[in-house]
Amino acid sequence: MKNTLLLCCICFFLVSCTAYKNKIETPSNTALKYANTITLEELKENLYILASDAYEGRDTGEPGQKKAAQFLKTAYIESGLASPIAPTDYFQTIPKSFLPAGIKASENVLAFVQGSEFPDEIIVLSAHYDHIGTKGDRIFNGADDDASGTVAILEIAEAFQLAANAGQGPKRSLLFLNLTAEEKGLYGSKWYVKNPIFPLKNHVANLNIDMIGRVDDAHKQNPNYIYLIGSDKLSTELHQVSEMVNKEFLNLNLDYTFNAKNEPNRFYYRSDHYNFAKNNIPVIFYFNGVHEDYHKASDTADKINYELLTQRTKLVFHTAWEIANRKTRLVVDK
Ligand SMILES: [Zn+2]
Repeated sequence: MKNTLLLCCICFFLVSCTAYKNKIETPSNTALKYANTITLEELKENLYILASDAYEGRDTGEPGQKKAAQFLKTAYIESGLASPIAPTDYFQTIPKSFLPAGIKASENVLAFVQGSEFPDEIIVLSAHYDHIGTKGDRIFNGADDDASGTVAILEIAEAFQLAANAGQGPKRSLLFLNLTAEEKGLYGSKWYVKNPIFPLKNHVANLNIDMIGRVDDAHKQNPNYIYLIGSDKLSTELHQVSEMVNKEFLNLNLDYTFNAKNEPNRFYYRSDHYNFAKNNIPVIFYFNGVHEDYHKASDTADKINYELLTQRTKLVFHTAWEIANRKTRLVVDK
């Protein structure tokens, strides 16, 4: 009898612990205030610029990619974001020697919002801004792949900076990482994890966005979705936070099809988050799936679903906001 009582007490304790952990810890109204600074108009304006012919398909090491890097740097400066490298240096250069033969040196573009309570704990938000350039007279604008993720990062960065300006900045630090050379084999992220700006062990999580502006065939009838990949692979808590935040703020259909073990497309291994996961840093990969314009010159800005892009960007923002402001650092338990 005594044992039963003790067991009951232990069970109750465990259940209440879990219930406590399964709550959003940051005030919803503050998060919403800054999420609402992420607007369809700004996402659209920036996407039309980056995916325009003037950027020549943003091929790694080529003039179009350099122009995109400058655009990102200017956008960060205009929004008041600092660089974590040096006051006016937003570029992390990847030497030619690190890249496959024939590709010129290129650069990741970085911006930073310092945490108020745990500045050494870093949450990385990433998207690659390079694409596959031109073939003959065809320009591969890469509107979905991955101008969509790139403009999402800019808007999220601006939202965090606005919060910081108003004294409501995140407890943990946010690193905004615009990666190059993804299309050549994830070289931008490979270089970053080999040459991190902060010790790798201080990286709490990586939320990586690669294609969030379109709808794939499987969701034509019900487009309010996004594929999540990796969320439960290293941290149970990360998966829980992601689910809770979505229920509270967005209610998108989170599709885990591509997260399944032995999934034949192997998307978990195919974008930049994988270089973080390899280093035991919990990741979520946000992805709309492939579509008829994937890696074609027809992946253009007019085909983006901007309403959906806005909702998905807000999902990533809210997830980052919660991770950055929770009382304790995300636990890696797998
Ligand atoms: Zn991509």
